[in-house]
Amino acid sequence: MKLLLIYPGLADGFGSYRAGANWFHHGTGIISALLKRAGHTIVYLDCRKLASWEEVESFIGASEFEAALISVATVDFTAARRIAGLIKKKDPALRVIAGGPHATLMTQETAGAAEFDHVFTHEAEVTLPLVLEDLRSAPRIIRGEMPPDLDALPFVDRSLAPEGESTGLWDMPAPYFSITASRGCLYNCSFCQPAERAVFGNKVRRRSIGNVLDELENLSREYGMKSFMIHDDCFTQYHEWAGEFCEKKKARGLTQPFVCQSRADIICRRHDLMRRLREAGLTWVYIGFESGSDRVLQFIRKGVTVAQNLEAASICRRLGIKIFANYMFGLPTETREEMSQTAAMMRKIRPDMYSPSVFTPAPGSDLYAYCMERDLSLITSAEGYRRSAGSGAKIKGVDYAYVDRMIRESMRVSVGYRIRRRLARLAETLGARLRSGRA
Ligand code: SF4
Repeated sequence: MKLLLIYPGLADGFGSYRAGANWFHHGTGIISALLKRAGHTIVYLDCRKLASWEEVESFIGASEFEAALISVATVDFTAARRIAGLIKKKDPALRVIAGGPHATLMTQETAGAAEFDHVFTHEAEVTLPLVLEDLRSAPRIIRGEMPPDLDALPFVDRSLAPEGESTGLWDMPAPYFSITASRGCLYNCSFCQPAERAVFGNKVRRRSIGNVLDELENLSREYGMKSFMIHDDCFTQYHEWAGEFCEKKKARGLTQPFVCQSRADIICRRHDLMRRLREAGLTWVYIGFESGSDRVLQFIRKGVTVAQNLEAASICRRLGIKIFANYMFGLPTETREEMSQTAAMMRKIRPDMYSPSVFTPAPGSDLYAYCMERDLSLITSAEGYRRSAGSGAKIKGVDYAYVDRMIRESMRVSVGYRIRRRLARLAETLGARLRSGRA
């Protein structure tokens, strides 16, 4: 079958791909690989690469396909409906399947959109190829069966983005690629769960280390990979598996520096794992510090304390691992004093990269239900689910001018420190360019 596979990805707008919003979309990447393996032909539309809705319509008009698959995130819901409408305008007989996290977490809302013929929930790998054998007889809502063995899946289709991704991390040599080594998370943060478990199930599934390293070798050989990110929600949650990755990566001669996500409590408990990761090339770690208030950390069920946040940062510093800090402002019940505590904590941590966000109730999470039950939400459009600073008011009772002030405050450093940091970055950027042969 000829299929049009679509990633709307318009949270940062048209043209954002070239401007750096070019992260690899693993959902469409795995579907493309799987359907090609099953004998289908894939035409890929990544709207970030186009400049306008006129270009989207021209692309759809010029492409030959028998059905379309759209991956829908909550923030892209309106855009996905518009794309489906353009497909129906070209030919009302063309069938459109909407999948992705929004279809799983907000199934009834997605099914309420007449532009979609089918709503595909959960994971696609096992069920989608079967459904495509006889799409006309498929029900309106299709639930995908979970693939139990991730090693049995093909590697994601890198031909969709062979040039790799931008990182914003100045010392990671290009080309840089992201991979996923597992699905699911053991933890229970209320701004995230149970949505994460609703998508990936209660049990975390991991690829074998050998299979992950095979993919990294393939990226090195075929695409010249010079650095990478393990994009799992929490790569370090199984310390023995992560430790095995360190030893086997070195044994295979894979010397590329890499990035992963972890949690402050794990870093505090597992100094030794962090040291082994560092020795295996870990250069950056993403940590969700979230708040500088123990009351707020308990309210969001983060399972860490402010003391652990500070200790984890100092452990990373001692090991020479750079910190990409995620934290947020504007949570329900959060006071001005508590926001100031978060800003003060970030000034103590002084991460290498700041990533503040504005709390946004994520569909399917307990905090989303909390906001809905109390009629707190101010979000009136799909775009309102963007979480970046300045992306608008999210819930009642939060002073967003104060949130903006605290975001600025959290990143305040002295002039001397700023100059030293710029000089260090300059040297590191040059080093990364030399390593990637692009100086
Ligand atoms: S926020 Fe991260 S650590 Fe917490 S439940 Fe979600 S994926 Fe797991």
